Amino acid sequence: MVSRVIPVEPFDLVIFGGTGDLARRKIIPGLYRRFWAGQIPEGSAIIGAARSDMTEDEFRTNARSAIAEFVAKDKQDPAIIDAFVACIGYETIDAKGTAGWAALKKRVRKDVVQAFYFSVAPSLFGDIAERLHKHGIATKDSRIVVEKPFGRDLASAKALNAGLAQHFNEAQIYRIDHYLGKETVQNLMAVRFANILFEPLWKSEYIDHVQITVAETVSVEGRGAYYDKSGAMRDMVQNHMMQLLCLIAMEPPYHFDPDAVRDEKLKVIRALDPVRPEDIVRGQYMAGNGQAGYLEHCEDASSKTESYIALKANISNWRWKGTPFYLRTGKRLRARTSEIAITFREPPHSIFDDAEGWRENVLVIRLQPNEGMNLMMMIKEPGPGGMRLTQVPLDMSFAEALGADGADIPDAYERLIMDVIRGNQTLFMRGDEVEAAWAWTDPIINGWEARGDKPRNYDAGSSGPEDALMLMHRDGRRWREIRE
Ligand code: NAP
Repeated sequence: MVSRVIPVEPFDLVIFGGTGDLARRKIIPGLYRRFWAGQIPEGSAIIGAARSDMTEDEFRTNARSAIAEFVAKDKQDPAIIDAFVACIGYETIDAKGTAGWAALKKRVRKDVVQAFYFSVAPSLFGDIAERLHKHGIATKDSRIVVEKPFGRDLASAKALNAGLAQHFNEAQIYRIDHYLGKETVQNLMAVRFANILFEPLWKSEYIDHVQITVAETVSVEGRGAYYDKSGAMRDMVQNHMMQLLCLIAMEPPYHFDPDAVRDEKLKVIRALDPVRPEDIVRGQYMAGNGQAGYLEHCEDASSKTESYIALKANISNWRWKGTPFYLRTGKRLRARTSEIAITFREPPHSIFDDAEGWRENVLVIRLQPNEGMNLMMMIKEPGPGGMRLTQVPLDMSFAEALGADGADIPDAYERLIMDVIRGNQTLFMRGDEVEAAWAWTDPIINGWEARGDKPRNYDAGSSGPEDALMLMHRDGRRWREIRE
């Protein structure tokens, strides 16, 4: 299958925080890959901006080293790298100061697509937005891209939204959740809304429950002080997992249009019930399997921040009443895997005697590793000896199914940055969506803080705290095994 690369319009993209970790690991390598693929037209410019006093050549040298480190070797073509870095510039700018803004104004053209990527701490979002406006750099068509975390509670998210809204309207603001740029996440919409097969069954009448798992093997080492202020609920559930839940639970939008899709996601968030304390299990990894514990990584020996959370969410609407969504995510777990598993109900009546062999149909959508889908089906066990049942997977790896090009799936960041240039907001969170997600999250966090709940311990390299198992057992269900 030949993938189509449609070049975007020429653009000027300014990366505030161009010298930072995200720019080095994701943004610059992602832009290079799109350039390599022929999607970025000549005449486009990428301008790094940060306080560091460096020359354009030094910034280009940094870009070359980021490409060398983070781009696959088979895409590192010296001639293409030379052409790419020739598009790159740099301005020394302090987001809170006055220097550099006039020079930036001279550089940024008004007759091409203008995008400003705020790859800096959220505390600088307001300063940058204000100066882009004050110095006459941004226009009414400019786009701004803002990174997570978008607030740490409803009040701070509202303040960030209000700060940006002073200078940019909602159609100009692209709030990145890189989960939405993953191929499989977008495929959730294709699977649901481009096939008649699943939609009639996509409701509580036929679906027993949904499990969403994002398990990581990494610890918080190296970013412990930052992580300790956030925890798994703020870092993963409020944003990434909420988005996955929305894509599974939302009604069909009338069109694949940014606001139509986001309206439907918003309705799901608003229909979420408050979560009962007994439906939440928080965990913190302890030293185990030769690995250090959370408290050694976070620099606060009495920290109660969770590195793991499991919870049961209920959606009160006609489609989902009676079908719980179990969410779990954690650091330092036994395997790195992200998946959504949709477990169907039993057939109303079995005509077979071999009830023991029967298992529920489960549709598993794997986000990583090996993006793909797998539908667990019942079939007859081969051979003589009567009608015995067994379960087999109908397995599809997207990379295999799509051949060589399928294996070359773009990284979430590169796809999302191209969407910004195209002006397509479908895969970005709208302000009201973010606020609604915080409105659901705040009482959960406030509840455990008020109760002084401590997280349960779990061994590094395990599947999480024992109590999380009970969360499911209590309901007569089981978590799927965490494995790659
Ligand atoms: P970082 O490595 O600390 O980089 C911060 C950048 O901001 C640097 O380029 C820094 O350069 C610049 N900066 C700091 N103060 C400035 C000021 N007053 N004026 C202008 N520039 C200033 O952070 P990061 O990891 O790249 O993260 C950037 C943003 O992305 C954060 O909001 C983060 O939460 C988010 N994010 C990061 C990741 C990731 O994987 N790194 C993932 C998801 C989200 P100078 O010191 O030279 O000014």
